[in-house]
Amino acid sequence: MTHYDIHSIRADFPILKTTVNGKPLVYLDNGATTQKPLAVINAITDYYTLKNSNVHRGVHHLSQVATDAYEITRKKVKHYINAAHEHEIVMTSGTTHGINLVSSCYGKQFVKAGDEIIISAMEHHSNIVPWQMLCEERNATLKVIPISDDGELDMSAYRSLLNDRVKMVAVTYVSNTLGTINPVKEIIKLAHEYGVPVLIDGAQAIQHIAVDVQALDADFFVFSGHKMYGPTGVGVLYGKEKWLELMPPYQGGGDMIKEVKFEKTIYNELPFKFEAGTPNIEAGICLANAIDYINEVGLNNISLYETELLKYATKALNDVEGIRIIGTSQEKSSVISFLLDGAHPYDVGVILDKLGVAVRTGHHCTQPLMERFAIPGTVRASIAMYNTKEEIDTLVLAIKKAASMLL
Ligand code: PMP
Repeated sequence: MTHYDIHSIRADFPILKTTVNGKPLVYLDNGATTQKPLAVINAITDYYTLKNSNVHRGVHHLSQVATDAYEITRKKVKHYINAAHEHEIVMTSGTTHGINLVSSCYGKQFVKAGDEIIISAMEHHSNIVPWQMLCEERNATLKVIPISDDGELDMSAYRSLLNDRVKMVAVTYVSNTLGTINPVKEIIKLAHEYGVPVLIDGAQAIQHIAVDVQALDADFFVFSGHKMYGPTGVGVLYGKEKWLELMPPYQGGGDMIKEVKFEKTIYNELPFKFEAGTPNIEAGICLANAIDYINEVGLNNISLYETELLKYATKALNDVEGIRIIGTSQEKSSVISFLLDGAHPYDVGVILDKLGVAVRTGHHCTQPLMERFAIPGTVRASIAMYNTKEEIDTLVLAIKKAASMLL
């Protein structure tokens, strides 16, 4: 693609032609999940029509076809994030699964009483609660990097939290509520000075920003397929070979073993050691189609387009009387959270929905962040590669209408 052909991109997403409450759908809830292009939808049908079979088991033809297709996804993910090895790509059910796997398996091996885990004040609940559970279990302490009023990490506070007791730093690349892009490379570099591994929650980055896990030097990197135009129920945990080798398995069962005897089981090699049981085969296979689709449009093209759209939306929303944007960092991606003075976010969301505009309202699974800003929640518009300036204009008109009804 030589230029960003928004019309042909939109034509690839059939749901964008539908109406909601008699109005054309304006889908601005991409932070929750993205819509799927025909390439992915057709691949799902194709899988059940032509390939359905279990993976990694059968000698028969179909099982081999399904296994090959499933393993192609692993290869594509490896290239997409520039991992050094395919066996560093563990297929999961999503970001939440990946974080729980690391907190549990790494925690079992490396975290003991008196140790510390660092997270940040802008984490999604799925990058808070698993670490909290680990700390309770091990009698370790959870430390939190504070943030500024703009929604940026306080890096000097982070530096002062690092010490020899810290066993893991787990932070998000992009905040799902504020849109802040965190300086993860710097965060990783500082942690490594203390020999501390870092987990990056890439759920809101993977579809917007080119990720190179080796350049970042990330120890773990997790994301979900459904937020990158792929199916629900599949995700990825990237882990450096060194750590994955040292960690015990997560769950026991089929596929994760080399040999089972009642006396002792020998575990399978990476990545299968962490992939017990039948996976979501269809979603795993069709994630490759989502990656192909992103690559065809070009992630850099997407990034540039979305950055432009975010600027446009920020200016347009700032011009609406009574709007307060939460998260005003200069380093932002794809998300605008805001409050309309005097109106509850939920009420705004309901009126926007009546006008065909889909946004998310509430705490966005970041309750501690809401507490930090002393607000009950926000209205969140989150953009994807197929959104347009016209849709932002519709959003703005809808907000003005909501203001006229509520205030
Ligand atoms: N982290 C972030 C930053 C997210 O935005 C989300 C999804 N909202 C998650 C983690 C959890 O992802 P999933 O529900 O797909 O596991």
